[in-house]
Amino acid sequence: MTDITTARDYDAIVIGAGFSGLAILHHLREIGLRTLVLDGEDAIGGTWWVNRYPGVRTDSEYSYYSFSFSKEVRDEWAWTERYPSGEEVLAYLNFVADRLDLRRDIQLQSRVESAVYDETSNTWAVHLADGGTLTTRYLVSGMGVLSQPIYPDIPGVDSFRGEKYHTAEWPREGVDLAGKRVGLIGLGASGIQIVPVIAGEVDEFHVFQRTPNFVVETENEKVSAADMAWLRENYDAVYEKAANHPFGVAMEPAEHSALDVSAEERRRIFESKWNEGGFHFANECFTDLATSHEASELASEFIRSKIAEIVRDPATAELLSPRDYSFNGKRVPTGHGYYDAFNQEHVHLVDTAETPITAVTEKGILVGDTEYELDVVIFATGFDAMTGTLTNIDIVGRGGRTLRDKWLADGLKSNLGINAHGFPNFFMSLGPQTPYSNLIVPIQLGAQWLQRALRWAQENDVEYFEATPESEDWWRAETERTGRQTVMYTEGKKAKAWFLGENIPGKPEEFQVYMGGGQVYQQHCRELEESGYASLLHRVDAPESVDVSESVDA
Ligand code: NAP
Repeated sequence: MTDITTARDYDAIVIGAGFSGLAILHHLREIGLRTLVLDGEDAIGGTWWVNRYPGVRTDSEYSYYSFSFSKEVRDEWAWTERYPSGEEVLAYLNFVADRLDLRRDIQLQSRVESAVYDETSNTWAVHLADGGTLTTRYLVSGMGVLSQPIYPDIPGVDSFRGEKYHTAEWPREGVDLAGKRVGLIGLGASGIQIVPVIAGEVDEFHVFQRTPNFVVETENEKVSAADMAWLRENYDAVYEKAANHPFGVAMEPAEHSALDVSAEERRRIFESKWNEGGFHFANECFTDLATSHEASELASEFIRSKIAEIVRDPATAELLSPRDYSFNGKRVPTGHGYYDAFNQEHVHLVDTAETPITAVTEKGILVGDTEYELDVVIFATGFDAMTGTLTNIDIVGRGGRTLRDKWLADGLKSNLGINAHGFPNFFMSLGPQTPYSNLIVPIQLGAQWLQRALRWAQENDVEYFEATPESEDWWRAETERTGRQTVMYTEGKKAKAWFLGENIPGKPEEFQVYMGGGQVYQQHCRELEESGYASLLHRVDAPESVDVSESVDA
C-alpha cells in the first residue's frame, strides 16, 4: 500500500445523498474505505427529496427502479404501485439508508462550494458553505443529472406579485392551489405529471405550451403481495434484463422494424404496446423507433391519432400533437391522464409557439397582447442537464483549472463519463456521456465498478486514476458517433432536447448522454477494467500516454 503518510480526513467523499450517494457509500465501505457522503439538503433522497411537486412519480416501473445488490432490502421492501410516487421512492431510499446502516456516514446540511485538488499531496480539499474544509483521497460526484433547475429567459420573471414555484424547488409544506388561477410553463416529464393532478384542484388553469410532447399514457396498478413475492424470486433475472437493455428497462427487445410489417400489423402492435403503457411503447413495439426517422414518424402518427381520440376539442387535440419533430426527439414522458385533463372546461391550453410569451408581469403572463391574470405561476422548465451540477460549483483540478473551464474550452470530454483528464481521483456517478437510461442500472453498476477499481488501485499501489487525453477524445467521438445514428440527433435538435444541450441558450450542442446503449456502455466499462484500467493511468511524468485504441475501443 502506498501513501499511508498523508493524513486525510477521509478516503472517499461523495457529494450527494440520493440513489448514487447511497449505493457508492455502501460499496466503498465494503472495501474498507473511510467514506463520507455530504449533502446540502436536510434530508437524504437527492432528486426524490427536492422534487416534491404534485404528481411526481417514477416513469420507470417498480421492478427495475430499485437496487438489486442488497438481499435484505429486496426481501423486506414492498412497493405498492407499478409507478411509485415520489413519496414512496423517498421512503424506499430512507429504508435503504436505515437497513444498510448508512446514516452514520452521511452529513446533511453540508453544501459543497468547491473542491480543490492538491498535486503535491494527491489530496482533494472539499470546502463547505459553512466555512469548513474536509480532505479526501477520492472525490465522487453523486450530484444527479437533472438537479440544476433553470428558469426561462422571459423578461419580468421576478416582477410577478403572486406565488411562483419551480417543480424542482417545491415547498416542503406543499402549496394550496384550491380556488386559484394557476399558470404552468413547461411540458416535459415534470409538467406532464403535474397537469392532471392539479387540474382537479385549481379554479382556472392556463397551460402555456411552446412545444408539444409525445406522451404515452399508462395505468398505474397496485402492486400485490404476490407481485412482490414473484419479484423477490426473480430479482436477479429482472435486473439482468434491465442491465442488458439499451435503455436500462427490464423489457423484451422488439423483433421487427416498423417498416417491415403491414400497416394493419403495425397498428396492432402499436395498439397493444400503447395499452401496456409508459416505456413499453418506445421500447417494445419495433426495433427502429430510435434509429429510423420513418419508423419514428409512424409512431408519431399513431400517438397523434390517440391524442385525437382522447381530447374532445379538435383544435386542442391538434395543438397537443407535435408536428415539427417526431417520436423520441424528446425524452418520452409517461402520462397519467395527461391528455384527458384538457377535456375539463377550466383547463386552457395556450399556444406560445406562434406567439411567444412576451413577459411575466406583476399580474400574470403576457402572450402577445393578451395578459393572463394568475395567482400562481409554476415553472416546470427543466434543468441544466448532466453538466449543470458539476459546473455550478468549482471542481478545481490540476493547474487550478475547473471542470467548467475545461469543458468550455475543450468541449464535453470524459473517459466513459467516469473521470476527466486533469482531475485525478475524481469520479462521477452518472457523469455526462453516461447512458440515456433508466438511471438505477448505471448507478448500481457504476458503484460496483468503482468498488472494484479502487480495490484494484489499493492492491496495485496506484495512487491516482486519471483519464488519458486519448481516452477522452475516443469517448467524445464515440458518444457523438453513436448519438448521431439515432433520431435523438435529428429530432432532438428540432425539439430543443436537453440531452443535446439545446434547452439552454448558449450551451454548446453536444450529446450530454451516451445513446449507444446501456449494455454497450457496460461492455466498455468491463474492457477498461480488464485492461488494468489502462486509459485511467495517465501520469504527468510519463513521456508517452498509454495507447487505449486496442485495450478499450474494441
Ligand atoms: P424539460 O423536459 O427540459 O422540459 C422543460 C419544459 O419547459 C419544456 O416544455 C420547455 O419548452 C419549457 N420551457 C423552457 N424554457 C421555456 C421558455 N423560455 N418559454 C416557454 N417554455 C419553456 O424538463 P422536465 O420536464 O423537468 O424534465 C427533464 C427531465 O427530467 C426529463 O426528460 C426526465 O429525464 C427527468 N424527469 C423524470 C421524471 C420521471 O421519471 N418521473 C419526472 C420528471 C423529470 P420547449 O420544449 O419548447 O423548450
